[in-house]
Amino acid sequence: MPKKLFIKTYGCQMNVYDSERMAEAMVAEGYVTTDAAEEADMVVLNTCHIREKAAEKVYSDLGRLRPLKAAKPDLKIGVAGCVAQAEGAEILARMPIVDLVVGPQSYHRLPAMARAAERGEKSVDTDFPEEDKFDHLPDRPAATLRPTAFLTVQEGCDKFCAFCVVPYTRGSEVSRPAERILREARVLADKGVREITLLGQNVNAYHGAGTDGGDWSLARLVRELARIDGLDRIRYTTSHPNDMADDLIAAHGDEPKLMPYLHLPVQSGSDRILKAMNRRHSAESYMRLVERIRAARPDIVLSGDFIVGFPGETETDFAATMDLIRAVNYGMAYSFKYSARPGTPAAERTPVPAGIADARLQALQALVTEQQRACQQAMVGREVTVLFEKPGRLPGQMVGKSDYLHAVHAATETPAGTIAKVRITASAPNSLAGTVV
Ligand code: SF4
Repeated sequence: MPKKLFIKTYGCQMNVYDSERMAEAMVAEGYVTTDAAEEADMVVLNTCHIREKAAEKVYSDLGRLRPLKAAKPDLKIGVAGCVAQAEGAEILARMPIVDLVVGPQSYHRLPAMARAAERGEKSVDTDFPEEDKFDHLPDRPAATLRPTAFLTVQEGCDKFCAFCVVPYTRGSEVSRPAERILREARVLADKGVREITLLGQNVNAYHGAGTDGGDWSLARLVRELARIDGLDRIRYTTSHPNDMADDLIAAHGDEPKLMPYLHLPVQSGSDRILKAMNRRHSAESYMRLVERIRAARPDIVLSGDFIVGFPGETETDFAATMDLIRAVNYGMAYSFKYSARPGTPAAERTPVPAGIADARLQALQALVTEQQRACQQAMVGREVTVLFEKPGRLPGQMVGKSDYLHAVHAATETPAGTIAKVRITASAPNSLAGTVV
């Protein structure tokens, strides 16, 4: 009887990728995944440390596992991800039901830690090990793969934005050797994956050892990946404006497999706040960058990240953020209230009163929703390409993503994994409808 593994994933796409790799590593230990914690022999919470609530949420979710553990004493509980990295042994002290704590850089050791837990030994591993965890992870099994897959190419960050814990939980920037990435991408393409999203906390800072002995940029890597048969779409996330190199902008202009969608966080439109955040660029340089990207690929859809209520943010600063959003005209954007993170430079600064931050967040979200709707509406009547990924909610319906990363559904028998031309016929708040042409 196979043992059952339940993994709950919080936070970013890199955590989604890490959860998939952890589940694959546990197959060799006789585990299959389950979607129900109640059925599990092992539960792993793969955590995020980006916002205050995220960390506390982990402890309250662990609290909810206590009755399960009481009813099933052999149940093993693990905490992985960025809260594991930040808090380490503190988690075992605070939550005795936990058997193991493993950081994002050492989850290739999860099988050994699970075996130790079965012997009744608790363990904590938040190392930044010498060995490359990817060398110790099994190949991606076809059974769990979908037409689109994540592929980590870079980890960590050296930017130290004043509000961010990533440099402390994920460590300094490390780029995987191109040969390893190309090998993983070929395995994915051979197993039917048509689209890959290259992941990194600061992915466009990628500088990995090339197969020619040189130092490859992200653009160089993208061009090589684009030569893999069967791999028809390439995306990447998350980028920093300061690392949008000329060759990457050029690739958006002339590499057809690089999709016309770019997530380019800016956080604020005020130079005073950008400085206080240690973002090391101005609103004006960001605008010039957007112009250069649009000159290379005029139809590109841009998305952004924004933080409102950063300590010291005035009405004038916030107005500058709203002006920047109007000037860029995003296709979509993610926005959050500032949340003080322990150990970050901004954590000790006086926060903006919650009521003011709430009002600013609402105003900003209303503006970006307006822009998102207009961007989607402008797709009506146009032909886009869609990678169909799975059946839709309605019979005879398939859903997928357009080249602009819009969710598209169509009445079609086109199988999952097919890239088809679709004429967009209607726009809804978060998706588009179309007909296959
Ligand atoms: S660039 Fe991104 S990941 Fe790096 S410190 Fe800044 S916000 Fe965090």
